[in-house]
Amino acid sequence: MCEISESDCCGNGCTNCILDSKPLSTKRADLTQKKNILHTYRKYKLIEINHYNNRPHLIQLKFTIAEENGDNKQLTEFILDCPPGHHLMMRAPVFDGTGIRCNKTVLRPYSPFWTDMTEFQFKILVNLKPNGQMTKYIEKLKLNDEVEFRGPIGVFVYEPSLNADSSLVIFCQGVAIAPTIPILERILHNEDDNCRIYHFSCFQNIDSIIFREKLIEFNRYWNFSSETYLSHQKCSECCDLSFNGGCEHFKRLLKYKEQVKPRRLSMQIISSSLEEIKSTKKQFVVCGSNTFQEFIKDCLIKCDINKNCIFVF
Ligand SMILES: Cc1cc2nc3c(=O)[nH]c(=O)nc-3n(C[C@H](O)[C@H](O)[C@H](O)COP(=O)(O)OP(=O)(O)OC[C@H]3O[C@@H](n4cnc5c(N)ncnc54)[C@H](O)[C@@H]3O)c2cc1C
Repeated sequence: MCEISESDCCGNGCTNCILDSKPLSTKRADLTQKKNILHTYRKYKLIEINHYNNRPHLIQLKFTIAEENGDNKQLTEFILDCPPGHHLMMRAPVFDGTGIRCNKTVLRPYSPFWTDMTEFQFKILVNLKPNGQMTKYIEKLKLNDEVEFRGPIGVFVYEPSLNADSSLVIFCQGVAIAPTIPILERILHNEDDNCRIYHFSCFQNIDSIIFREKLIEFNRYWNFSSETYLSHQKCSECCDLSFNGGCEHFKRLLKYKEQVKPRRLSMQIISSSLEEIKSTKKQFVVCGSNTFQEFIKDCLIKCDINKNCIFVF
């Protein structure tokens, strides 16, 4: 088990702070009788780096465990397990204005959207923030650089549902769609899991949608449906996007059966969507900025959803 101290907290007031949700043994680690390599800080080598869909502020990073003393033989007793809905803490050195390393580190949580348990690899998608402390470090990363991570951190537990009377309702915003992808894959790739998924994602405009192709692919499953809301979508040819579904120009940007709406997700939309979900057992997942989390939680509570069924990260 891993030791946690005050200095392990990133100080950003995360909903699931590492100090409250200490990384625990995972089901898969127990089943394989192996230790989770993520439990202590280790170095991971950057093996892929690319801009997501050519967007300058969005980069995708792929890491693999860095070799210790030139070999990885001692890894046979480990697996890398970051359960869906959990995140990793990245730790980076801090440098002063002259480029000299200070005796400090910066910590920030990131949510892998893909992991390989036995190859000890994972991918994260990072939305670079102007003048952000970790952003400055990430922007300078090059292939083969080594970066420290530990985890998994989080409280979300998902149990597969054998009957069709359960549903998982997910609300996410921007890059925070990333932690929802492994949750969706875990459910949809399990033929025995009959949980219905209702996925609501929010972005600024059609060009800023992340994992659009994945959502289209998931929509082929009988138990998945998604709606995407665009708060700042404009039409370059006409000015009226306000009516139901958007103008003809906007509709031409959509793919077959894609449910993308050029408006903000509102309390009214949430309330009427929830009325249509008939399952008796409902679980809710909310991923996004603090403001987004508060807004969605508030809407759900106003719709009489028990707050114990709402997971926020
Ligand atoms: C559970 C969890 C999972 C996450 N997963 C991801 C993920 O998968 N991908 C991802 O991209 N992000 C993720 N994040 C967010 C991530 O952890 C970082 O917060 C983000 O990358 C920004 O970090 P930073 O150090 O670059 O910016 P910060 O230094 O934290 O600053 C953020 C922004 O605020 C501004 N700012 C900072 N201080 C001030 C101030 N005093 N006054 C005015 N402005 C200020 C900065 O200029 C910058 O634009 C996650 C967060 C949480 C809580």
